[in-house]
Amino acid sequence: MNTIAGIDLGTTFSALARLNGIGRPEIVPNSEGERITPSAVYFDEEEAGAIRVGLEAVNCRQLNPDRAVRWIKRHIGDKNWKKSIDNRDWTPEEISSLILKKLKQDGSIESPVEDVVISVPAHFDEVRRKATMDAGVLAGLNVIGIVNEPVAAALYYATTQQVNGRVLAYDLGGGTFDVTILDIDGQNMNIVCSQGDHALGGVDFDKKIVELFEQAYRDEYNEELIQNEQDCAKYEDEAEDVKKTLSRRNSVRKILYGAAGSVRVEITRQQYEEAVESLIARTEILIEVALEEAKSKVSDIHKVLLVGGSTRMPIVRRRLQKKFGFEPDIAVNVDECVALGAAIHAGLTLLRDAPEKVSQGIASGLKDVQLRDVCNHSYGTICAPIDEETGKHVIRNVIILKKNTLLPCEETQTFYTMSDGQTELQVSITQGEDEDPDYVNKIATEIFALPDNRPANQPIHVQYSYDVNQRMHCRFLDAESGRTLEVDFCAGENGKLKKSNVEQAAQEMDAFKVQ
Ligand code: AMP
Repeated sequence: MNTIAGIDLGTTFSALARLNGIGRPEIVPNSEGERITPSAVYFDEEEAGAIRVGLEAVNCRQLNPDRAVRWIKRHIGDKNWKKSIDNRDWTPEEISSLILKKLKQDGSIESPVEDVVISVPAHFDEVRRKATMDAGVLAGLNVIGIVNEPVAAALYYATTQQVNGRVLAYDLGGGTFDVTILDIDGQNMNIVCSQGDHALGGVDFDKKIVELFEQAYRDEYNEELIQNEQDCAKYEDEAEDVKKTLSRRNSVRKILYGAAGSVRVEITRQQYEEAVESLIARTEILIEVALEEAKSKVSDIHKVLLVGGSTRMPIVRRRLQKKFGFEPDIAVNVDECVALGAAIHAGLTLLRDAPEKVSQGIASGLKDVQLRDVCNHSYGTICAPIDEETGKHVIRNVIILKKNTLLPCEETQTFYTMSDGQTELQVSITQGEDEDPDYVNKIATEIFALPDNRPANQPIHVQYSYDVNQRMHCRFLDAESGRTLEVDFCAGENGKLKKSNVEQAAQEMDAFKVQ
């Protein structure tokens, strides 16, 4: 039988977990024997076919940063981002697929890894979710679903600990931050809401250390420490080491080597904590927003669950303890729990959608686990209703699917064409809460072609649904003619990477070998 697996495709590290014979998740170490793999890719200049992924790629990056990519998750879904190597432009999805390919390869030693669930930050929009799934397909995986990272962590937590009550998951990883509030009752979990910031994570904390290095160098020589890409790569890596050491010690000494000479610096934990204060404060604001959305007070939270490598920083733990009045829960391994939970999610997904693929042992191991998830954003469309006071059309964002609706969900609203002889409709799918179209994110825009020669006010039914695998489906129906437009979320060229294109691209990607 195939291995049922969960993948945590992280900004700095990735991991793969599989379900064992009795439905318990376990991490599969990579070919270097490590339980987590750096999400780094290096295109070797000497061996064209050898794309290095993991620790070796991190180490090679200092020698030639132009041929290396780290933190690709920050760009996933961005159709304008490309990495040019040897006359080939690599998209974020393709680079991510190389990381996934390495995980698949290393995880397939006992039996082939095929059916997987990949985790994403809870606040990822549709374009980023679809791009993550595409990366999986490009890597030759059968992506059966997507799970939000804090939900995956909570799944693992609830199935291994005795938990009852309202829990807040604080997930500070390498590149993103999520806070999720959920109710746990034994192995039953109901997600209440999530908030997050996709540009707040460990790398931003590393940058603060780089700034301390730069300041110390300027104070000594009145010159810049970092003068090129190589210096930048070197000091980014060193900053991460210093940051991690400061989680264990009160100070770190270091020698900085720049063009003007060397300087000995000492960075204390206190200095570091002052430098990162604004980043910590941003996480606290998002906790407040999540509490308000969950209509909860601080005293309603029974446990705080830590997820993500950056929660090892003492300042995070101290601040959460101060806020909630008790120590956060660190019983689960912060680096591994997302992959472990994603594997459980993969098992639950297959049990529901393709039970014949699940062995008896796994099915009985998962039979008591229940998860009820919610839609993480509000989704709407832009229309132009007539304002009652002025009698004029006003451009509005109208919400069709509301944030935090229990999954699966489906909503339909009817809109009307505006003019006689209107032969097309520009449909926009939005994500966000505001009525003003300028304050929401337009995640897709398409032209819906309509029949000729009709009067105005033709009804268009707009149906949005969100499935339990965290995927959204949109359908526009012209009631009179029966014409429909289905909108797919794409990150490819001009936003047009359809299923068949992804499969074709997967064949092309097959030619690239990773090690
Ligand atoms: P994750 O995406 O959950 O694997 O988290 C990776 C992030 O955690 C990276 O930015 C790491 O630098 C950070 N991290 C890992 N260990 C520590 C530590 N001991 N102290 C501070 N940050 C850490």
